[in-house]
Amino acid sequence: MNTTKSSQCAQNEKPVVIALAGNPNVGKSTVFNALTGMHQHTGNWPGKTVGNARGWYTFKNQIYNLVDIPGSYSLVAHSAEEEIARDFICFGEADATIIVCDATCLVRNLNLVLQILEVTDKAVVCVNLMDEAARKHIFVDCNALSEALGVPVVATCAKKNDGLETICKTVYELTHRKDQCAPKTVTYHPVVETALTEIIPLIESATSKINPRWTALMLLQNDDSLLRSMEQYLGFDLKQQEPIASVLASCYSRLEQTFPNAQSLRDDIVAHLFKAAEEICHQAVRYENKAYMQKQLRWDRLLTGKAFGIPTMILLLLFILWLTVSGANYPSALLSDWLFGLEKPLSSALLAIGTPLWLHNALVLGIYRVVAWVVSVMLPPMAIFFPLFTLLEDLGYLPRVAFNLDHCFKKCHACGKQALTMCMGFGCNAVGVTGCRIIDSPRERLLAIITNNFVPCNGRFPTIISIITMFFIVGNAGIISSFLSAAMLTGVILLGILLTIGISKLLSVTLLKGVPSSFTLELPPYRPPQVGKVIVRSIFDRTLFVLGRAVSVAAPAGLIIYIMANVTVGGNTLLAHTAGFLDPFARLFGLDGVILMAFILGFPANEIVMPIAIMAYLSGSTLTEFENLSTLKTLLVDNGWTWLTATCTMLFSLLHFPCSTTLLSIKKETGSIKWTLLGFLLPTICGMLLCFLLASTARFFGLV
Ligand code: GDP
Repeated sequence: MNTTKSSQCAQNEKPVVIALAGNPNVGKSTVFNALTGMHQHTGNWPGKTVGNARGWYTFKNQIYNLVDIPGSYSLVAHSAEEEIARDFICFGEADATIIVCDATCLVRNLNLVLQILEVTDKAVVCVNLMDEAARKHIFVDCNALSEALGVPVVATCAKKNDGLETICKTVYELTHRKDQCAPKTVTYHPVVETALTEIIPLIESATSKINPRWTALMLLQNDDSLLRSMEQYLGFDLKQQEPIASVLASCYSRLEQTFPNAQSLRDDIVAHLFKAAEEICHQAVRYENKAYMQKQLRWDRLLTGKAFGIPTMILLLLFILWLTVSGANYPSALLSDWLFGLEKPLSSALLAIGTPLWLHNALVLGIYRVVAWVVSVMLPPMAIFFPLFTLLEDLGYLPRVAFNLDHCFKKCHACGKQALTMCMGFGCNAVGVTGCRIIDSPRERLLAIITNNFVPCNGRFPTIISIITMFFIVGNAGIISSFLSAAMLTGVILLGILLTIGISKLLSVTLLKGVPSSFTLELPPYRPPQVGKVIVRSIFDRTLFVLGRAVSVAAPAGLIIYIMANVTVGGNTLLAHTAGFLDPFARLFGLDGVILMAFILGFPANEIVMPIAIMAYLSGSTLTEFENLSTLKTLLVDNGWTWLTATCTMLFSLLHFPCSTTLLSIKKETGSIKWTLLGFLLPTICGMLLCFLLASTARFFGLV
């Protein structure tokens, strides 16, 4: 390409500012990265580009400042991101705007294009994803499109850098030519058109800074947030200026006869925009993809339909968990054999170089054993679960999960996007909490942050899975028992999801009252996953990241636990003293002192809860290896565990305070101690309450 990012080539001093606009997910970031050489994260989450990213490139010795504005569907903003986008497009004074569109769904994209063309005539339409359109047998005639829109249109495939040179050339010509484009003007309802003709001349005499027709249309719609931005930009309130104010008043009263409220007027304007978009597509796009669309529709009926959507989702969850549970057993045992097998040579090596016995014990029996346990129990399920999860993300299934759950969350006055952040929580609650940034309304974001911990993260899965396998599945590990484990695990997860929804509802009628905001949830087409990329992304970005964090916490924790298990006061270890102190209280909730202490000491990371409990139960004062889960079960049963202890431990594992990293993330995201405290207390109280109820009922009926 003839573009360069080197400043030495830049000769024209004054940079030209180019806005990069478009719907979400159309390849805007890919165009931006390709032109400027900057790297933004590309992914399918809505709202990924949160602010205006800036970069630059040069073409024919001219510097171009490229501003990547957040993806938006319309200039009528519904979210903070769309407001940022709208304000830059309308008042950012860009010299030109590149509007990136998705060739596979042009009608929807043209809605934004037509709105932007009402604001500016310096625009280039970039029809991206041409390769996907061709695959779907959709053919876009860019010349016909350009003629219909009245601005240049360029076909691109940004992923392969196709057409970007032409974009640069077209932008260059557009910003250097003296004559103007004549963009398509949408004709609205006759009543609106009459009002516009009355207001436009008045605006023309009041200011030359903005397009008068567009401004008049905005004044008629009376969009508060836009009018505020306009006032800031102009430095005065256009609406209050005479004679605009009185003409507007008479227009409003006439419009009221046709449109009883502001919303019906806006709906009519949108309907005209869509009609115009459809007419243009009729001229410029040829669809030969009936079979393809029918296939997509069939999939959507299965995955998001009223009858099948949620059952399919549950079955899919069950299948993934079954694969995780049954697939993790064997590698877990191998890894454990290998790591614990390394202990002896490590121990001999340390003793051979003269390491004092106390240090050797702390290093090998304390740190090494806890780390070996954490790695062998956590790595295999994560290495299976995360790639499967990423695969679903890449296929385009996750937005469909949000779609399925949207109704439930809306009913609780929460946001449908919360389903996505909840899904992220399955990997790691800290990641889920940070992911809540994709929710625009501060109230709904808080709801999602505070309730994220109600779904079990990866650190809690091993505890829950091993308890299910030990106490509730009879018989040997076979296909049926692993299926039953997966079914119980699915039940636990569904309980977590139900509680998330229930607590969101509770909060939205008490502390966080409010109505749900509307948002457009995009269902991207099903895309064939890029398997290599999925594996790399899930292994490096997720598995190793989470494992690294767990190990870095488990190592010092192992040392502390070792010390507590070995330092004796009054004939008993510190660990035994603490457990004994907590015991009467813990028994109220069907637990015992050791388990409660393990949860408290496991505050840095949930994955070390079981190792701590085992270490405390063992008379040998150190965590020993155990060949299989039945030895562990014997140890637990010998220490008084019953089915009730197992169930309550599982419940408490699902419902207790977030780990320290998640809590820190809540504090960072909310900036408030009060909300952080609530994030800590809510799941803990829920867990204690449920365990107490279950334990009391079981004891009352003599079931234990
Ligand atoms: P944005 O949300 O508009 O910024 O979109 P991104 O740049 O993040 O792109 C969304 C997805 O579309 C990513 O997976 C890109 O790799 C992919 N993508 C972008 N441009 C093209 C293209 O021309 N063809 C194909 N097949 N995929 C593309």
